[in-house]
Order: sequence, then C-alpha cells, then structure tokens
Amino acid sequence: MSQTEFKSKTVIISGGSRGIGRACCLAFAKAGANIVFTYNKSLDKAETLKKEIEKIGGSCLSLSCDARDFGQSKSVIEQAISKFGSLDVLINNAGIIKDKALMMMTEDDWQAVIDTNLTGVFNLSRAAIVTFLKQKKGCILNMSSVSGLVGIARQTNYSATKAGIIGFSKSLAKEVAPYGIRVNVVAPGFIDTDMVQSIKEDIRNQIVSSIPLGRLGAAEDVAELCLFLASDRAGYITGEVVKIDGGLTV
Ligand code: NAP
Repeated sequence: MSQTEFKSKTVIISGGSRGIGRACCLAFAKAGANIVFTYNKSLDKAETLKKEIEKIGGSCLSLSCDARDFGQSKSVIEQAISKFGSLDVLINNAGIIKDKALMMMTEDDWQAVIDTNLTGVFNLSRAAIVTFLKQKKGCILNMSSVSGLVGIARQTNYSATKAGIIGFSKSLAKEVAPYGIRVNVVAPGFIDTDMVQSIKEDIRNQIVSSIPLGRLGAAEDVAELCLFLASDRAGYITGEVVKIDGGLTV
C-alpha cells in the first residue's frame, strides 16, 4: 500500500469512533483518502479521532448518525458528497452485540441487533448505491463475522444479522457488477476491541486458546484487509466473503 493509493478518494466508514472502524479510518487516511466516519454515542472519541486524522494530514468529516435511521444515513451520503465532491468506498462497519441464550432473549435484544447490524447496512448502501450507479464505479465492504458463517452459541440475533449481511452482499454484488461496482464481505473472528473486551476474562482466555495463531486479532489486521479489498488491486474480487480469524474456523 502506498501513501497515495487512495488520494482524492472518499471513504465512508460507519461506526468509526471505536475499534475496527477507528483502525479503518486511520489506515485509509494514511493511504491518502478523505475520511467520512459516523458515530452514535462516542462524541469525545469521534472528536479525538478527527484531530488524529488531521494531524497526519488527512481530511475528515465526522458525523453523528444512528445506523438504524434511514433519513440520517441518507444525509451522511449527501454531506460526504457535498464536502468532498466524490464517493468511492462505503464500509458498513457499525455493529453491536446483545448476547444471550435464546430462552432469555427479549424482543428488544433481538430488534436492536437486527436494526443496527442489518438494517444499518441496508440504510447506507441504499443511499450510496444511487451515486455509485450514476458514476458507474464504487466499492462496498460489509463487516460480517465468523458468527454468521459457523454460528456461535448465545448469538442467535447477532449471527442472524451477520449471515444476513452475507446474503445481502452476494445479491447486491450480482446486481451491480454490470455497473462496475464491487461488493465484498469481511468476516472477522475475535478481534481485540471493546466488543471482545466485554466478554468475561475466563471465557476470553478460552477463546484465545482455541485460535490456531494463538492471539486475538488486532483492529489494524482487519483494516489492512479492508485497504486491500477496497483497492484497485482487488479489482476482480466481488461477492466474496473473506475470513480473518487467525485460523479459528479452519
Ligand atoms: P466496537 O469496538 O464495539 O465499536 C462499534 C462501533 O459501532 C462504534 O464506533 C460504535 O459507535 C458504532 N455503533 C454502534 N451502534 C451504532 C449505531 N446505532 N449507529 C452508528 N454507529 C454505531 O466494535 P468492533 O469490535 O470494532 O466491531 C466493528 C464491526 O466488526 C461490527 O460490525 C462487529 O459486529 C464486527 N465484528 C467484530 C468482531 C470482534 O471480534 N471485535 C468480530 C467479528 C465482527 P459509538 O461508540 O459512537 O456508539
């Protein structure tokens, strides 16, 4: 990757304030991209990240947007185009967990995860696709999980969204390939972010011992994969699901 690979390109990253989204913002900024990222609750972290991006010479627009909200998502795309005049890459990254055994799961636990993780992907993709179709180019990366591929106990809600994202992405990839638009899925295993730190330590240790590479992934590992998939180097890859899990699901 060169520091100019994404020069003059605009990359939108949902849920950029923390974790994998944050690492993606910094990686794409270092590669020369204009960064537009969204956050929901973490205003302070969003402001810090914006400053960090500007310190390394990047241009950045930080926007409050609840992934569940169709109107706010549409506005993100409009504001990105209005500020930077272009739209090249959309990374649907925002996501939450509300892990529980199904017999304890409330309707709210179910709906919050579906609305954020799956409807959120529809909302931003629906708004961005209009521009991508008009310009006959564009790239969408959707953050799934190995949970959507192999299932994880106590994650029926989360797993359903992550499998749903794969179906959504494969259908969209076929639909928009004739217009030069690529759609791919990143499926991480266990990555060391707040999401995984919220798992009890003894369970986390068990998880680490089951990962062939012997460690949790770093958010930067996932950002590196996103850089590649969003670049012209991956110009012949679409409709693909790329696992990044340290061998967990081998
Ligand atoms: P994280 O550290 O918990 O960060 C989640 C991000 O999503 C935050 O920036 C948060 O913003 C944002 N977000 C949450 N709800 C939102 C909403 N309603 N609207 C807009 N933004 C919202 O999580 P992470 O580990 O980086 O995960 C990022 C993505 O990777 C998720 O889709 C997750 O499912 C997926 N993933 C993670 C792992 C892992 O092991 N960490 C594994 C597989 C897949 P605020 O803080 O501003 O609310």
